[in-house]
Amino acid sequence: MTLHPLPLLFLGALVTAMLALCMFVVAERHRADGLFDWAWAMAALGLAAASWAVPSQTPLWLTVAMPNVLLASAFAFTLQGLLRFQGERLLPIQIWGPVLLALALNAALLHTPQLRRWGMAAVVLVQWLYFFGLLRRHWTGIPGRSKYLFASGTTLLMAGLGAGPLALEHMDPGIQALTLYPFCMAVVIHGMGSVLMSKERSDTRNRQLAYTDELTGLHNRRAMEQHLVQQIAQARRAGQAFSLLLLDIDHFKRVNDQHGHLQGDKVLCAVARVLQDSLRSQDIAGRWGGEEFLVLLPNTASTPALVLAERLRANVASACHVTVSIGLHTMHGLTNESADAMLDTADRALYAAKHRGRNCVGTSLHAPA
Ligand code: GH3
Ligand code: MG
Ligand code: MG
Repeated sequence: MTLHPLPLLFLGALVTAMLALCMFVVAERHRADGLFDWAWAMAALGLAAASWAVPSQTPLWLTVAMPNVLLASAFAFTLQGLLRFQGERLLPIQIWGPVLLALALNAALLHTPQLRRWGMAAVVLVQWLYFFGLLRRHWTGIPGRSKYLFASGTTLLMAGLGAGPLALEHMDPGIQALTLYPFCMAVVIHGMGSVLMSKERSDTRNRQLAYTDELTGLHNRRAMEQHLVQQIAQARRAGQAFSLLLLDIDHFKRVNDQHGHLQGDKVLCAVARVLQDSLRSQDIAGRWGGEEFLVLLPNTASTPALVLAERLRANVASACHVTVSIGLHTMHGLTNESADAMLDTADRALYAAKHRGRNCVGTSLHAPA
């Protein structure tokens, strides 16, 4: 069977155009996820593939110059999308300069194929260097694994389309046709990589929002409930002590009544900051609700937990113009306590601390049975 490049090229163009169409359906122009630019990149690639497939007796500018300029445009859109995705900027000349260069090069060297191919390879290399430099700078900040797809798909496309014509120059048309398979694969990897990369980042941001208290930036109640269950299981597995503190700001209603809710919010943020600054790296602090905070102290027995609670109480009193009462409860290794039971005991210890005059730490010993 002889492989003919033209039907394969049309198929490649069709697949690319369909991917572009799907991306345009979900992309929004002003969204900072890059998808809109990446959809344009895909459309330009599809058009380039379609122009290569035009029969060779048509003018060279249609079968050679136009796809070359479209190719450079596709990579410029890819770079622009990545810049938008990262919230970075480059001068327009840095993004679109290579496209102008491709245009000039193809106009000047339309009938000098060897030089034109070398020129295009150089243009695409410059574009790849910009792309790769930007990606490398932000690599660790991009969540998920789809960045590997995006990076490899784009690199494969750029290498194949930039240097491919040089390598394939003297080869049999059958071999040339074979190279269209990797082209289709690279287009799909590049397209899926870009879509999934923006999806993974949205997922990460949504998860962060769902588990963060908007006012204080601490973990919210949903996150703390999950951490609590995990920490109890971990303590039981390791046979370690585990303590928790329930903190409640004293007479907080008065702060709101006398200084307004906005000032009250600032006090809540100040207490949250003191908690964050006073705790050890393994401790977990969150806003439990209203003016109450929950602190989890893994692998901490009752005596060190009491020392830590006293330190938190003193730090809040000296830094925040308010005081806190704290209920402390410790689970000792192998005992079988549920999260609710632990919280209930800590709540009763807190209640006892309030009764003892506030601005103090209550323990299970003080709590009414
Ligand atoms: P106690 O010492 O017994 O804890 O007295 P308290 O005034 O702190 O307790 P109370 O439960 O009577 O009042 C809690 C107040 O916390 C009432 C509520 O308006 C306020 N509050 C809860 N959430 C927020 C918030 O997000 N921002 C502000 N500014 N106030 C809040
Ligand atoms: Mg309260
Ligand atoms: Mg209170």
